[in-house]
Amino acid sequence: MMNEIISNTKFDVELTNESRIHEVDFDNLVFGRKFSDHMFEMTYEDGQWQQPKVKPYGAFEITPAMNVLHYGQAVFEGMKAFYVDEDTVHIFRPKVHHERFNRSCRRLCIPETDYDTFIEALETLIKLDKQWIPQESGTALYLRPFIFASDDLLAARSSDKFTYQIITSPVGAYYAEGFNPVSLTTTDEYVRAVSGGTGDSKAAGNYAGSFLPAKKAKEEGYTQVLWLDAKEHKYVEEVGTMNIHFLIDDTLVTPALTGSILPGVTRRSIIALAEDWGLNVEERRITIDEVFEAHEDGSLKEIFGSGTAAVVSPVGFINHKGRTIELDREKPGKFAKKCFDAITDIQYGRAEDKFGWVH
Ligand code: PMP
Repeated sequence: MMNEIISNTKFDVELTNESRIHEVDFDNLVFGRKFSDHMFEMTYEDGQWQQPKVKPYGAFEITPAMNVLHYGQAVFEGMKAFYVDEDTVHIFRPKVHHERFNRSCRRLCIPETDYDTFIEALETLIKLDKQWIPQESGTALYLRPFIFASDDLLAARSSDKFTYQIITSPVGAYYAEGFNPVSLTTTDEYVRAVSGGTGDSKAAGNYAGSFLPAKKAKEEGYTQVLWLDAKEHKYVEEVGTMNIHFLIDDTLVTPALTGSILPGVTRRSIIALAEDWGLNVEERRITIDEVFEAHEDGSLKEIFGSGTAAVVSPVGFINHKGRTIELDREKPGKFAKKCFDAITDIQYGRAEDKFGWVH
C-alpha cells in the first residue's frame, strides 16, 4: 500500500502506514532507544540544499564508501520539546541551538542551513507525532538534528553531498528518583579538545574520542571525566556532555569559552539567570588548583554541571591526582536546585518566559 502524501506545509509529508507507538513503554523510557514515527530529511547536492521532506522513520541505504563512515564529517544538535497542555508544546531555545548547529557546520566544512526550515521541520514533526511526547513532569521529546557527509568519496576532503535529518525520541524524567550527584575524575593521560580544534563544535568525532577515557573513568568508579585544558592540564574545561559551574562564596564562576569548550545552551541560560538574580557572575579561566583551594578554605559552596539532558547535575566528588573534594553527595546545592527549578518551570510553562526562551 502506498503511504499517504500530504503537502500542506513547505515540505512534502509522507505519512507512515502503521504507527509504532504501541512498542513504547512510556513508564520506562530508556534514553535514545525509541524513535517517533516520522523524521525530517533534506539532502545537499549540486551546490544547494534540495526540497525538504518529512517521511516515516526508518532505515536507509548507505554505501561502504560513504564519506562520513571514513572521515567522520558530521555534526549534530540535541534539544528538547516539552508537553505543556493539549494545545501547547514548548521547544527550548531553538534559535540558539540552530546558531550552534550552523557554527558547527562552518567548522566541519558542511553547508549551513536556514532557521525557517529548521523550526518548521521541528513543528511539523511535533504536530505529526504529538502522541509521542510524554506528558509526565520531567519527561520530554528529545530532538536530534544532524548532518553527515553522504558522498561516495574515498578522498580525505570535504564531501560534495550531505544529508540533513531530524529524528525525535521520547525521553523519561532524568531525576525520577531525585537528584543524583555525579563523581568526576581528571586524567593526565587524555585530552578532549584543543583550542583551534573542533571541541567547541558539536562534531560527531569529538564524542568518539572521549569514549575510551570515559570508559576508564567508569571502571575506576567515577561517573565521568572532568576535562582539563589540553595545553597545560591546569584549567577546568567541562565534563562528558555537560558544562561546569562553581559557586564560590556568592560568585558563580564558569569556565570561559576559550575555543575548546562546547558553548552549552543550558550554561548560557544559567549565567543569564544568575545575572538576573543579582549574583556575581564570572566567566573566566579557573584552575583545578583554585577549586581545591576554595574547597580547603571553605568558600567552595557548590559544583554542578549543566546540559540539555539533566538541566543541572550536582557534582558530589572530584578526584585530581589522588586529591579529592567531597561535597554533599545526597542532595543538590540550593543554587543548583534554584537553577533547575527556574529553567524547568519555564520549559513546562509553569513560569513566565521572561527571557523569551521558549518557542
Ligand atoms: N558539553 C558537551 C561536550 C556536550 O555534549 C553538551 C551537550 N550538548 C554540553 C556541554 C551541554 O550543552 P547544552 O546545554 O547545549 O545541552
